[in-house]
Amino acid sequence: MISNREVKPLLDREPRFEDIMCSLNSVPRLPRAIIKETKEVIAIARKFNDEVVRPYALDLDRKKHEDPDYLPWGFVKKANEWGFYTMWIPKIFGGKGLNMPSMSYFLEEIASACTGMANLIGVHYLGVVTISASWHIRLMNKLFRDTLEGEKRGSPCLISLAITEPGAGTDVEEVALVKKAKVTCHAKKVNGGYIVNGRKIFISNGHLSTWHMLIAYSDLKRPAESTVMLAVRNGTKGFSFGTQEIKMGQKGCPASELIFEDCFIPDENVCFDPIQIKKFSRSVKETNMQVIDYVVSGSRAGVGAFGTGVARGAFEEALRFASETEVDGRLLINHEWAQCMLAEMYKNVAIARLSYVETNYANGLYGIFKLLQWKPIFYYTKYMPKSIIDRFISPFLDLPITTWLFRKINFDWQKDEEAQRTSGWASLSKFVGTDMGVKNCQLALELMGQAGLRHDMRAEKHLRDSKLLQIYEGTNQLNRLNLFKCLIGRSIPQARVFEE
Ligand SMILES: Cc1cc2nc3c(=O)[nH]c(=O)nc-3n(C[C@H](O)[C@H](O)[C@H](O)COP(=O)(O)OP(=O)(O)OC[C@H]3O[C@@H](n4cnc5c(N)ncnc54)[C@H](O)[C@@H]3O)c2cc1C
Repeated sequence: MISNREVKPLLDREPRFEDIMCSLNSVPRLPRAIIKETKEVIAIARKFNDEVVRPYALDLDRKKHEDPDYLPWGFVKKANEWGFYTMWIPKIFGGKGLNMPSMSYFLEEIASACTGMANLIGVHYLGVVTISASWHIRLMNKLFRDTLEGEKRGSPCLISLAITEPGAGTDVEEVALVKKAKVTCHAKKVNGGYIVNGRKIFISNGHLSTWHMLIAYSDLKRPAESTVMLAVRNGTKGFSFGTQEIKMGQKGCPASELIFEDCFIPDENVCFDPIQIKKFSRSVKETNMQVIDYVVSGSRAGVGAFGTGVARGAFEEALRFASETEVDGRLLINHEWAQCMLAEMYKNVAIARLSYVETNYANGLYGIFKLLQWKPIFYYTKYMPKSIIDRFISPFLDLPITTWLFRKINFDWQKDEEAQRTSGWASLSKFVGTDMGVKNCQLALELMGQAGLRHDMRAEKHLRDSKLLQIYEGTNQLNRLNLFKCLIGRSIPQARVFEE
């Protein structure tokens, strides 16, 4: 038997890339306060579900079905009142600075009651993570402080992400594919800024947001090398809203068309463009991919959590039904076949949750939360009074050198393996969580029979809501390919992914 003395040096070695479970490396590095904070977040979400989400979810679904132009301002104002739009904005930008992984548990809770409403909150953080991935600290400070002001004034200030176009969906989320996409949103460089022309579609929360993180291209023939990220505020000349999609699920959350016609965006609102990033060690195209990976590695964990939530919601409806309904002289829950189905559904929830938790570990070790979860920074920002943070840190946030420093750390010092590991895990949690979501909804309907089809039983709404999750944030097929590329194919020289 190998002795402890011999094992010790083996354990002390740097973890190998093949050590697939990120929790193995991450758990000892986590600040302990994260656990307490996460339990509090879950408790708040459950209270919000009881008081706001469940009583209103079916009503909103019907309202939006009857009137596709209806906007759920009532719900958004409630979420704003409860402080949900600043909860995960770091304290240095005026937010509450809760630990980022706790957001997934929160979203799972809300999605277990209504995925559309979970998206009305969660998609704001898709905007937050997008600007954060540009590491443009001055603009982050500006937009996040606007959100904070919106919270104080009771007038929500949300941020959306606009990347999808009529001819470009999955492919714009992967630099290797973007050249095949039919991108048409053009940002022409002119003196003092960019002039944008084009259309974006399926933008969640579009009509409800104040700021839009717009992805456009300065050269439509070479989008991978010419990606531009712009912060566009409502009211900017040349920017308008088009229609809202009429869709099968998540009806409460609008999917909007954004229209740009000779829309001038000044340099001060350019978050990221080839001019700004050519100073870093990777090529412009590689840095674009890195930024996209930072975004989707964060957001796909969130979509995995939505999937877990809807899987749980369906399980809970099925369990309730089985506990109350008699079939063939006894309660459904006492039929072995029903018990097997419920066990299967429970397993699906557990697996989905484990997947997003592992992705959160990956993001904390190698990705977008890395700095925030580093113990000295975590405890400093958690316990330092806000007044001191505002006095001694905030003045530096608007300086160009601060953006440069954050970019140096996050662009140049992130290794390719680290980006691939987070990206691969994010894809895994996205398709596992959302596939489990759809699967559980189907099982719930199977178990409930005709009762499951009735609107007031909620199971059919869960099914309609869950299907959308398999599509956004890159279809599940693309995410499978990305997992193969990042976690499997990378160590097999013969493997080719996303090639023409
Ligand atoms: C409800 C909802 C909300 C959304 N919210 C937003 C938002 O807030 N912001 C935003 O920018 N976008 C948003 N989207 C857009 C979303 O990100 C895209 O729909 C998604 O990325 C898929 O793109 P697509 O619909 O164009 O499908 P396509 O990419 O056209 O895919 C069609 C089919 O082709 C397959 N496919 C595509 N490429 C490949 C490939 N290379 N290899 C193999 N198969 C491939 C797909 O798997 C799929 O089966 C939203 C979409 C929905 C449905």
